Amino acid sequence: MDIVLLGAPGAGKGTQAELLAEWLSLPTVSSGVLFREAMDAGTPLGRRAKEFIDRGELVPDEVTVDMIAERLSRPDCANGVILDGFPRTVAQARALEDLLGRMGRQVDVVAYIEVPTEVLLQRLSGRWTCSQCGAVYHETFNPEAVEGVCDSCGGKLVQREDDTPEVQRRRIEVYNERTAPLIAYYREQGILSEVDGDQGVEAVQHDLRAVIHAARS
Ligand code: ADP
Ligand code: ADP
Ligand code: ZN
Repeated sequence: MDIVLLGAPGAGKGTQAELLAEWLSLPTVSSGVLFREAMDAGTPLGRRAKEFIDRGELVPDEVTVDMIAERLSRPDCANGVILDGFPRTVAQARALEDLLGRMGRQVDVVAYIEVPTEVLLQRLSGRWTCSQCGAVYHETFNPEAVEGVCDSCGGKLVQREDDTPEVQRRRIEVYNERTAPLIAYYREQGILSEVDGDQGVEAVQHDLRAVIHAARS
């Protein structure tokens, strides 16, 4: 099964993707995580992406699509993937159709996680990310057990450089301009399911599983 999680920055895509991955035994493919790995490693891709990410702009489609194409070609993606943060433009959605089509696959379900803007800002401003494994916490809504330390790997928690108030607002604007059109795009294809993301993590996960279950049968 190939699943796309769609939603604004802070909607909970990364959090939910990890839980779905466990349930479905599928890998998560997160464009944001892949870019951050490349930036940490200081690769040419990472340096290119950083110029855009630091400003809250989208990395150009071509760069992003090449990175995802490489990731999807790996053996662990053979039975399907959970995509988090990709596609983010209509051009990326078309490229994804091509990539999957060449493997005899298609996007089976697009789960749109809907969250009001003021809640997005609360979530982004309290987000802490593990510098080792990428696990995501929230200082109020989903705190770690020992302050500043990742529950799962013991790594140090940090705030992302692009989680400053100014860049957060820009990312939400960019989402509304460039990514929100995908809602109508996928609705027309008949594969969009909406999930209320303004609930606790477990309730959102429950609704996502119901939507995926329905799409499977
Ligand atoms: P968030 O979790 O806040 O939605 P991500 O980790 O998904 O943020 O992405 C961080 C940044 O990486 C984005 O603001 C953007 O600059 C870049 N990025 C991630 N995915 C894409 C994509 N599919 N296309 C273009 N840029 C992307
Ligand atoms: P995205 O990948 O869509 O940007 P994240 O999964 O990184 O979203 O979540 C953004 C922030 O909100 C994180 O700090 C996370 O712990 C928190 N969060 C995620 N889901 C919920 C939820 N349902 N209720 C409250 N906080 C949440
Ligand atoms: Zn960790």
